[in-house]
Amino acid sequence: MELGGSLEKKSRFTDDERVTKAMAYLEETAASNCPSSFNNNKEVRCHCLAPLTTNDDYRNAVAIHVLWWARLDKETQQILLMEKIKVGKLLNGVVGDSKMYSLPFTTEILELAETLEGIKICKNALMAIFRIGRGFWKTCGSAAATGTAPEHGLKGKENVRSKIFKNEIEPQLAEFFEDTVLTLSGPRPTRFAREAGGDVEIRDDNDIQELDPEWTKRRLYSKYCWDLGHHVQGDSKGNLKIARRVDNTWIQSGADYATICSWTSFHRYWKGKYPKLIVPRALS
Ligand SMILES: [Zn+2]
Repeated sequence: MELGGSLEKKSRFTDDERVTKAMAYLEETAASNCPSSFNNNKEVRCHCLAPLTTNDDYRNAVAIHVLWWARLDKETQQILLMEKIKVGKLLNGVVGDSKMYSLPFTTEILELAETLEGIKICKNALMAIFRIGRGFWKTCGSAAATGTAPEHGLKGKENVRSKIFKNEIEPQLAEFFEDTVLTLSGPRPTRFAREAGGDVEIRDDNDIQELDPEWTKRRLYSKYCWDLGHHVQGDSKGNLKIARRVDNTWIQSGADYATICSWTSFHRYWKGKYPKLIVPRALS
């Protein structure tokens, strides 16, 4: 979050000063109707933060919570927000109101907590309190709806995956295409079509390369896997099962099992790098 980042840098502020600043922001925000975060900050009809305008203690409790929130890392904020959205949706089914979120606050004063717990606010107010943008909200909202981890949370894993792809898979894939696939293909033959006046030469795009007819993309993928120590088999449902080769030829070669890519990645690589290398349509 922006606030968290600036808090780290601006060490010149004491915690008390930060609370004061956050309270001032809340006072200003609470003065008007809720800003519609999904409609250019136009005011909406509700005024969910009205209770904060009159009471310093209320603003203080919310400000403390906001500062705590701002210091969390982004992934934690997302998980917490997803929970709020989920709970809000469940609650909304019961009360049928747009004020479906609890006012976020932190306080040690029991009486104050009891009062603040009763305050329900709308999505716009919650976003304003945390200074959450539309994109962040949407990411968490759709993740909450599908029960998946938010996209940002997966970024780390994705990076690891692409690192492996780049360092271990792609060089061998490139080699396979250059040394094997390209040698099994050639320029598309000139075709003739019969028209009223006689045979007419059809000029194709000259760059088009055609794979030799006995090969298919699937077969080439199998060969790619096979050469790197893996055996591809289709099961009865058409899914591919890939297992390590245990035949004598492979074992005796002493080669290491290489990391291979999935059929989907193989196909994507083909389309991306060799868009003009095509499989001829079966002649009818
Ligand atoms: Zn509102």
